[in-house]
Amino acid sequence: MVSSKALHMILFVQSLILLFALRRMRYTGELVLRHAQEMTVNHPGEKQPEIHLRNEVLTMRPIYVVTPTYTRPTQMADLTRLSNTLRLVPNVHWIVSEDRVHISKPVQQLLEHSGLSYTQLAAPRPASLVGKVIGRGVFNRRAAIAWIRENASEDGVIYFADDDNSYDTRIFEEIRQTVRVSVFPVGLVLRYGVSSPIIENGKVVGFFDAFQAGRKYAMDMAGFAVSVNHLLSKPNATFPARVSYLEEGFVKSLEVPVTELEPRAEMCTRVWVWHTRTEKAAKPSLENLKEADYLAYSNTNLEKLHKHLLEDSSADKPTTNMP
Ligand code: UDP
Ligand code: MN
Repeated sequence: MVSSKALHMILFVQSLILLFALRRMRYTGELVLRHAQEMTVNHPGEKQPEIHLRNEVLTMRPIYVVTPTYTRPTQMADLTRLSNTLRLVPNVHWIVSEDRVHISKPVQQLLEHSGLSYTQLAAPRPASLVGKVIGRGVFNRRAAIAWIRENASEDGVIYFADDDNSYDTRIFEEIRQTVRVSVFPVGLVLRYGVSSPIIENGKVVGFFDAFQAGRKYAMDMAGFAVSVNHLLSKPNATFPARVSYLEEGFVKSLEVPVTELEPRAEMCTRVWVWHTRTEKAAKPSLENLKEADYLAYSNTNLEKLHKHLLEDSSADKPTTNMP
């Protein structure tokens, strides 16, 4: 048995050690701080690269990347890939606009986890267009435009980036230079394998695209960007609810003549964005577990795994997370 006197002694010695350790930590902290201050005062040019970098990024024009999206088994895979791309691009604000009544929890969690500056929107279709091809991606893109008109910085640029496409980060630096409407080639489009503006003597004279169908601006959604300023100068610019004519209708409503479109990506000689498509996949369900002899999986991870996969509770309000 340790006597109470000895116990007090031990406690006293321990307190002394703790006090000493705390003082030492404070002293070290002060030393580090003083050292850092000396470095920034004496060698400001050399010792502040990060601060300079941050200022440079902050003075870059913001890019508002609008991604229409809808709930389906491959959605998280597509959005994850796109979020990883966008994390490589400075000064991006990602507007993810869902084709549904309420924003969804999985998308919200993905956005939070991405660390990106973002806005999550949801836009319902009119009842008459629910489940119809004609409503695909129209009302959620319109909601994003409305958000931009209200909230975006005037020197920004808007780009419509579908969730399943593939992007070389260089395309974003091209987009950033948009004065009114910039245009560039998109790879893997229909039977020509590419959709591109046709350039003659440095000017756009037409469009090389397998789907002409009377389109004046025969472009893919991924092949153009518009400045916020220009969008604001066209209060009626919007997406029509007309299948296969979303790009045509929207770009037309921006009222920039074909020859005044701004060719980018080395005068439209480079492909830095591709119209890739994700193969459809089965939706995981508890039914499948049952079919595959569910009882054999009791006391395993599978039930929880499926619960996570099926989580799709809805939230009510649009959320935004800007610096
Ligand atoms: N999309 C949408 N609602 C729909 C169908 C598509 O919001 O009902 C979105 C989709 O997530 C994608 C974009 O619109 O970001 C283009 O759709 P999709 O990739 O299916 O078109 P495709 O590449 O086949 O032309
Ligand atoms: Mn697609």
